[in-house]
Amino acid sequence: MARQSTRKAAQPKPATETAVKIEKKVVATKVAKSGGAVVEAKVEVNKRAVTKRKVDYNEEEDEDGENADSDVKDEDEDEPTQSKPAPKKRKTAATSKKADDNMPLASRTPINTLKLAMKIGAHVSAAGGVQNSITNASNIGANAFALFLKPHRTWNFQPFSPDSATQFTSLLKTHSYTEPQTTILPHASYLINLAQPDKTKATQAYTSFLDDLKRCDALGISLYNFHPGSTGGLPMSEACARIAAHLNTAHKATKSVITVLENMCGSGNIIGSNFSDLATIISLVDDKSRVGVCLDTCHAFAAGYDLRTPETYAKTMKEFDDVVGLKYLKAFHLNDSKAPFSSHRDLHENIGQGFLGLRAFHNVVNDERLQNIPMVLETPIEVKGLDGKKTEDKKIWADEIKLLESLIGMDPGSKEFKNLEVELQKKGAAERKRVQEQVDKKAEKDAKKAAPKGKKGAAASRKKKKAEEEEACDSCGEDSE
Ligand SMILES: [Zn+2]
Ligand SMILES: [Zn+2]
Repeated sequence: MARQSTRKAAQPKPATETAVKIEKKVVATKVAKSGGAVVEAKVEVNKRAVTKRKVDYNEEEDEDGENADSDVKDEDEDEPTQSKPAPKKRKTAATSKKADDNMPLASRTPINTLKLAMKIGAHVSAAGGVQNSITNASNIGANAFALFLKPHRTWNFQPFSPDSATQFTSLLKTHSYTEPQTTILPHASYLINLAQPDKTKATQAYTSFLDDLKRCDALGISLYNFHPGSTGGLPMSEACARIAAHLNTAHKATKSVITVLENMCGSGNIIGSNFSDLATIISLVDDKSRVGVCLDTCHAFAAGYDLRTPETYAKTMKEFDDVVGLKYLKAFHLNDSKAPFSSHRDLHENIGQGFLGLRAFHNVVNDERLQNIPMVLETPIEVKGLDGKKTEDKKIWADEIKLLESLIGMDPGSKEFKNLEVELQKKGAAERKRVQEQVDKKAEKDAKKAAPKGKKGAAASRKKKKAEEEEACDSCGEDSE
């Protein structure tokens, strides 16, 4: 449970967030007198609770920067339920920019014109129905994409409508996504923790997970990406066994979708920060054709797997091959990192602007072994307008897709590459400095804490450190992404 409560708290938030929730609340008690008898009727109504909040320093610490998440914010607000009327939409920047969402920002690069068949895209919005993700992906020139299959911040969901499957299939055709099996990578809700030891909560997680897999089957989607979860403080081996047991049951209950584990950035209770966690889970899965891995570049780097130079990249990929096996590598999340190497912080940055840098992405998109798998951006696209309001600028993804495609076959020693590298690093310099200072401060604090103390003090500090670790990792929640 710890994971779920902290995860909720650690969702990344924009600097100012307006959260809209539907709450069932008792708002009135009607008392009616009838023939001397008092009839008390509690009236339940749906209430839109609108809360405004400002992010404080600590929350910012936990921010994931995962754009999947900032995107998700829209989806939660806009996703219509199928049996209930959608809540009345507010006129906000998010609503008014809907018009922009329908505008093509870039055309897709035909894969056969690229030197390597790299399918690059982003985690797009599925607000208004899963079929809308296809147009959103096409509009940014994405050759691959991720989406949430249902509003992802809640356990409540409406049954899947067969209509959306029909529309989904037809829109795939319209937009010429001819190989959905290597193009679409839905992302699970961050709430799902298949390692959950509590029976009731485990059932809740599994139910939502299985429902997603069935949606994949109905939509003709072959891959489904999820975060392994948290051990909740129990032994890692047992947590991995619980995940694998759920996967085995889920595989039997569904047709063909491949369940794709994502590597994580954290430490402590978070599962999947080490390649060996992923290998353990896979080893316990009966049908190996139904399990895979999605490598997130930011998470890998933050977890201590370097990708910055051709040598470190080759070493990390070899380690992945040795420990997990390259045949299980089914997808990539392409994110730069605002946080330095091995910092266990999940802070996504735009390509080339973070501590990974452009060279890392040159390594990835020029690795011919990674052809024909979805590569999904979860980079930040929130921008502040002149009025101070934050909106999403999807052109950032459109440009990043073209940038990454341009790196395929580019000579990293060329002037063109060097100029790009310098220019992007300059753009991200202030953010890198800011996060580096946070990381340094924390290291200093930790060093002080590690100083010898009495028995009681040491135990208390161990406890505190554990709690902090859990919190930090849960920021992955993934945020995302
Ligand atoms: Zn990711
Ligand atoms: Zn992340």
